[in-house]
Amino acid sequence: MDRTISETIFSDSCKIIPGGVNSPVRSFKGLGLSPLIAESGLGDRIWDADGHAYIDYCLSWGPLILGHAHPSVVRACAWQMAKGSTFGIATQVEMELALKIASHYPSIEKIRFVSSGTEATMTALRIARGYTGRSKIIKFSGNYHGHHDALLVQAGSGAASLNPLATSKGVNKETIADTIVCSFNHIEQFRALCRSDFAEEIAAIIVEPVAGNMGVVPPEPGFLETLREESTRIGALLIFDEVMTGYRVHLHGAQGLYGIDPDLTCLGKVIGGGFPAAAIGGKSKFMDSLAPIGEVYQAGTLSGNPVAMRGGLVTLSILEQDGFYENLFAKTQRLVRPIEEAIVRMDLDACIQCVGSMFTLFFGPRQVKSKRDLENLDEIRFSQVFRYLFERGIYIPPASQEAWFLSNAHTDEHIDYTVECILSFFHNL
Ligand code: PLP
Repeated sequence: MDRTISETIFSDSCKIIPGGVNSPVRSFKGLGLSPLIAESGLGDRIWDADGHAYIDYCLSWGPLILGHAHPSVVRACAWQMAKGSTFGIATQVEMELALKIASHYPSIEKIRFVSSGTEATMTALRIARGYTGRSKIIKFSGNYHGHHDALLVQAGSGAASLNPLATSKGVNKETIADTIVCSFNHIEQFRALCRSDFAEEIAAIIVEPVAGNMGVVPPEPGFLETLREESTRIGALLIFDEVMTGYRVHLHGAQGLYGIDPDLTCLGKVIGGGFPAAAIGGKSKFMDSLAPIGEVYQAGTLSGNPVAMRGGLVTLSILEQDGFYENLFAKTQRLVRPIEEAIVRMDLDACIQCVGSMFTLFFGPRQVKSKRDLENLDEIRFSQVFRYLFERGIYIPPASQEAWFLSNAHTDEHIDYTVECILSFFHNL
């Protein structure tokens, strides 16, 4: 495959952008390939700078649930841009999107828009700390909530960690001193933390209700229920980080799917229709802690950007249509099921885990319930499958512990071709 133009753009980018990318995972590190340089996208495909087409299962890391350049989104956003792309002033469209989201999420009475998932989770923690007057937070190993300091702590795999290590240099140990890390899906460990001496210092418990950032890992029965019960008992706020799961696993998010109401919800990705938008929502009594009503400060020059709000509004209106999710989930199963069956039939050290329209094919473990199960993840096998698919015009997220996504633009023909390629990879093993 001739990728000369892409390689030249990447090497020029490296001279001016650290690592040539604006987010590290785009760099294809460890894959032995020069990264993809995207030129355009339409429906379920993207084209690179050399003109090669790829069926896209990354979808900009989840937002593009309607596929690339959906005509209704393009039309609505172009119309909005012609009217003005940003005002830094309140608009009607942000109110309309807020009402629509609240209609889908009964736990949300009020909502504040920001521009990224990172800002949403950062603000949710600040609300929880401001409201409760407490300082500690619990997060779960393998869950990712963006790159702000308090949550950028090592996802230790075994025991709960009261003194977790920062995942990044530049994060002061004082900043993460109040962050406690618990193992995902470990009900007993979590209960013990909520019954410890410092239980009454815990302001918030933040969780990806379906983990997507260690690959897709569903919650075990009783896990989310226990989080709800214990956080209510100790007076801490339960925060569902649905930046990835929101509108991906159900119209009403993971909270709708599992029937658990959190105190605060973080949304992102899908709600901007492919533009930068994210949000924090919850009961008024918590949300009214925010300035200008309350004393918890939060702000943003481009927060509630009208183009992003318009893109989100038109996207969510399409998701509401009858049969949208049935169709999306049926397409996802068309891809996942034959792979799952082949893994069993061929007795492979692998598994495919799926919730709604997000899924991950893991090599190494036969089931993943927590970060600990990823200790024997086969990175070599992953880089082989990545390259095998890439060379055949299929683009999956370029790292082993990521969620893959499907859109309703994925055609049956492209899904069947993808299955065929993955099965032929299995046969070559
Ligand atoms: N929370 C979750 C669950 C995410 O998956 C992500 C990003 O992938 C974030 C938060 C951070 O969002 P952003 O990259 O928009 O800052």
